[in-house]
Amino acid sequence: MIRLISTDFDGTIYEGSAEHPVDPGLLAHLAEAKARGAAWVINTGRLCPDLLLILASLKIELRPDFIVSVERNIHRRVKGGYEEHASWNRACREDHRALFEAAQPGVERVRRRITMELGAEFYHDEWSPLSIIAKSAEDADRIHDWTLEECERVPNLRIVRNARYFRFGHAGYSKGTALGEIARLLGLPPAAVFAAGDHFNDLSMLDGAHARHVAAPANAIDEVKEAVRRAGGHVSRRRCGRGVLDALRRLNGAAPLQPGRKP
Ligand SMILES: [Mg+2]
Repeated sequence: MIRLISTDFDGTIYEGSAEHPVDPGLLAHLAEAKARGAAWVINTGRLCPDLLLILASLKIELRPDFIVSVERNIHRRVKGGYEEHASWNRACREDHRALFEAAQPGVERVRRRITMELGAEFYHDEWSPLSIIAKSAEDADRIHDWTLEECERVPNLRIVRNARYFRFGHAGYSKGTALGEIARLLGLPPAAVFAAGDHFNDLSMLDGAHARHVAAPANAIDEVKEAVRRAGGHVSRRRCGRGVLDALRRLNGAAPLQPGRKP
């Protein structure tokens, strides 16, 4: 029985260009699951207020019980709002501060190499000493390789990639470990946890360690589909939210979604 459902947002349950950016069937399924006592977490790289603004603009009334923001911070729904999981978020902040100090020379090496060989957009915020937006998918693959090289030199340094976007992070705080912490708070084993994602930054919750039941929609990148298959999960033939709904229905033993409906 699934008691905790973790979904990435962009590209997994949200498709901005679609007629229904979040599939109504998936929302109905999530509402039913919540009514039965399951918890839903949106596990995203976005900031919490940003995510809530999108849900409000889509007139979606259903709210997740937890939000993991910036792929690392945990927020819990209380009385119509969200409060921080203070001990986790504080440790997360302190560990990142120490890590980024140690990683500064390597981060600077990456910045120089990208500037000299490719060019890219850089910015820095409180979440990463260097955030990178590659100019193209090809550039992003090369930048990914270079950042991985640097991460090997600094213990706990990880690169978090979503399409052409990169930020650095701490290995101890990812979508996967945050999901593990939420499961711990709820007293749930991995066998009661489901996770779905579509891109590199979702891999940490799709390897079977924190969620025994994993899924990817049809639009997921190949690396994610492979990880999901390796973990014995379901790769749907349907896109985004329809794909997640497809996977959840299978777990409940329901009949597959009717053919003829849009994929
Ligand atoms: Mg995504």
